[in-house]
Amino acid sequence: MSKVNTVLGPVAPEELGVVAVHEHVGYGMPGSELDTRWWKTPEERYAETVPKLRRFHEYGGGTFVDVTGICNGRDIDYYKSLSAKTGVHIVACTGFVGGDTALPFFERAGVDYLTRQFVHEITVGIGGTGSRAGVIKVGVSRGGRMTDLDLRIYRAAARAAVSTGVPILTHLAIDVEPAVAVFEEEGLPLHRVLFGHADDGLNAPNTPDTWLAGRGGRIGFDTFGYETELEDPPFWARPRRERLAHFLGFLGKGFLDQALVSADANCSPLGWPGVKGHTVNYLFEELVPDLRDAGLDEATITRLLVHNPADFLTIQN
Ligand SMILES: [Zn+2]
Repeated sequence: MSKVNTVLGPVAPEELGVVAVHEHVGYGMPGSELDTRWWKTPEERYAETVPKLRRFHEYGGGTFVDVTGICNGRDIDYYKSLSAKTGVHIVACTGFVGGDTALPFFERAGVDYLTRQFVHEITVGIGGTGSRAGVIKVGVSRGGRMTDLDLRIYRAAARAAVSTGVPILTHLAIDVEPAVAVFEEEGLPLHRVLFGHADDGLNAPNTPDTWLAGRGGRIGFDTFGYETELEDPPFWARPRRERLAHFLGFLGKGFLDQALVSADANCSPLGWPGVKGHTVNYLFEELVPDLRDAGLDEATITRLLVHNPADFLTIQN
């Protein structure tokens, strides 16, 4: 039977509904929990998060993919309670946002150890939670060049993806040739990889989105909503019209089935203030109306938000 791992157990792909494929319940850098400026009680975190997920559900959102890696505040028991409370399926990840967010224990780990770690979290469970990871996160460290550790993580992720059938999702798709070489060496078809943040203001110019898509890769336009029009935009923001034009141009090149969209928002950020005025619900409140205005029909929008992510997330046997 086809299935997708969620924190509350396996779900049939047809049951995912509208998927936000790259999101965060709460993302923070390792050690942020030690900085008392940012401490929040569990009640405060719930109060920030639950209304956003409830609204997502009311809009018709079915599944929230949390790609907060190991060491960045991933908290599976918390996700289980959020999912039970709101009715939103939550998919958790194994892997790392980038080598530079891995604590020293993992920094020293070899490919074999990392592979076993990822496979265990996908097939047995994450810690003692019993919840299995549904996607593998990898990424490029700050500085924009793949480090040795990044490459070890990519290789371990590729091996875990080949052996379990769970897909890979990347933070950034810059300096991408070494990553593609690793995937090809490990025998992982690129349609099992979502190359993310192809649309962000800082990295879009260095992301070869059509080259990757031409080789079969899936492309994440997954920072929708981080706009220069925001009151206090982050450094990776981009003018709204420019991002939309980039996205529509990509679709126009025949890559509709390889396009995935998300907002990369934080429900309740850890160790930083987050970006005010931006939530996962941008997808319903702004993106879908923009796509309709641009002339996309409902079937196309459904492919982007429902069918493409379900196809990506379905575990391959
Ligand atoms: Zn993210």
